Amino acid sequence: MTMTIALHSDHARLFERNRFVYPVLSRRSGGISIGVNLNPDKVCNFDCIYCQVDRTRQSETRFVETEVLIAELRATLDFVASGAIYETDKYREVPPHLRRLNDIAFSGDGEPTTYKNFDELMERCAEVKAAAGLDDVKMVLITNASMFHRPHVQRGLEVLDQNNGEIWAKLDAGTDEYYHLIERTPIPFRQILDNITAAARVRPLVIQSLFMRVNGEPPSPAELEAFCDRLNEITADGGKLKLVQIYTIARRPAESCVAPLADAEVDTIVALVKRRTGLSAIGYYGSADYQ
Ligand code: SF4
Repeated sequence: MTMTIALHSDHARLFERNRFVYPVLSRRSGGISIGVNLNPDKVCNFDCIYCQVDRTRQSETRFVETEVLIAELRATLDFVASGAIYETDKYREVPPHLRRLNDIAFSGDGEPTTYKNFDELMERCAEVKAAAGLDDVKMVLITNASMFHRPHVQRGLEVLDQNNGEIWAKLDAGTDEYYHLIERTPIPFRQILDNITAAARVRPLVIQSLFMRVNGEPPSPAELEAFCDRLNEITADGGKLKLVQIYTIARRPAESCVAPLADAEVDTIVALVKRRTGLSAIGYYGSADYQ
């Protein structure tokens, strides 16, 4: 008994010190998600107007240390899957129906596919998951789709396909102008659309879209129509989209010119997407817990 407690508190200390891997309680996914940060330097090839990463302070960790990351993932999977996590103060109150491990999510403080050894790292993480006997646990890649044209990224996506993977690709606009207003990147909108289409031809993708007020203005009806047109073009070109997730801002971002949509506005966009595209769509409100 004493040994178990000692082991568990060692584990708790271990995961609090982690640099790349962290558990999060996700009510949306109905369980625990294990986040993996492939961008500890906080560098991103987008500069989204709604990004919550604090880039005013430099992080202490600049590079991914693969062996450290893998060791952290192994320990964190064990910590969550064994239930030891629910003995810590932070997770003690988690209700029984949420005490399950849902996924390993690759997101973090930048665009995960810009990581130079993306394919190798997906492979190593998949091996850790398989060795732990966690075939049901998903591997979710949260991405802006900007790097899908690179061969090593495509290899990494194939590793996800073989290991219960899911790709959530960001698409926040329907027109070039709005895309540049929101994402503030030199990467052309056409490249993102082509990348999403090509990847969706190989496996069904989830589209993740965030809409908000910018200087008090929600996206115009014409912008939302154009957004639906882009979705229709992807599917007309043979891309498979299994779900469109419509988000708004849930926590205050760095830029003060952006604010969340009202719940009813999110509902309207979801209804429009369903009607105009025939795709499954789901909305997530932001205003209820906006702080
Ligand atoms: S792609 Fe993600 S990490 Fe990069 S700026 Fe946009 S929200 Fe932030």
